[in-house]
Amino acid sequence: MAILRTCILALMPQSWRASAEAATREWRVICPNCGSTNTLWDLGGLRWKATGSKVWPRRCGACGKIGVHTLTRG
Ligand SMILES: [Zn+2]
Repeated sequence: MAILRTCILALMPQSWRASAEAATREWRVICPNCGSTNTLWDLGGLRWKATGSKVWPRRCGACGKIGVHTLTRG
């Protein structure tokens, strides 16, 4: 996912890139099993202009369990 993001960002104008990074850093990904949080940016994600879903099935880096993680802003 980080590779895809890098490709997308490389195609963007500089001003868009900064905006996309700032917007992505506002989003937090919360594990339903252990409650650990990470920023979406740190997990290699990209969210901009509020596109995409607000849930993300993935394996948690903290507890190792697969669960539907919730994305919240702020
Ligand atoms: Zn967890």
